[in-house]
Amino acid sequence: MLSFEIADDAIRGLVKDLQTNGMPSPQPLTEELLRGLSKEQIETLKNLSHLSDQQQSIIQPDVFPEEGDEAWNLRLEIRTILQQALRLDLVHLKMVQDNLVFFGALPDPQKDWRYFICPDFKYYCWQCGSEVMSKTVYVSIHYKELRPTMAGGGEVETQEIWYCPQCGVEPSSYSSRTESIGESLSREQGIARLC
Ligand SMILES: [Zn+2]
Repeated sequence: MLSFEIADDAIRGLVKDLQTNGMPSPQPLTEELLRGLSKEQIETLKNLSHLSDQQQSIIQPDVFPEEGDEAWNLRLEIRTILQQALRLDLVHLKMVQDNLVFFGALPDPQKDWRYFICPDFKYYCWQCGSEVMSKTVYVSIHYKELRPTMAGGGEVETQEIWYCPQCGVEPSSYSSRTESIGESLSREQGIARLC
């Protein structure tokens, strides 16, 4: 279990808003914008930029922070400051917004807003705080046009599916999906172009 609170009600409420309305477009911190900020907001931004600089000198590539070490504590502190910035209504600032997911102050929109990044760079469940698991699922592809026989090109795709062992359901190892022959062809051409 995590040693810190994931989010209070204010942050959880904000997440729901962002989920519904999307992120506001990020604004750079201009002189003019700065003049409109309160003392508390400015103090929070100063802390954020100071700690981010420190973080860059401490975090080493390929070394993952472990609970309680210097890098962990620093990333946790930045996370706390970012949530403070959210409570102070600074989500529209680029310097805040750019860091929210990386420091786990918000759940990752690319993970359906369900999981957030912990100071050790692993994903945890935004609801219950369990470490998230991933599983490789084999998906066989069937052609729409050939329904109901469910014939396909015999192609099997692998997908990495994330789930929470506590409040989610472990996906089964095999599944299937249908696509049209046209979709299948354009997907294959897309793959070929990448190679
Ligand atoms: Zn969970």
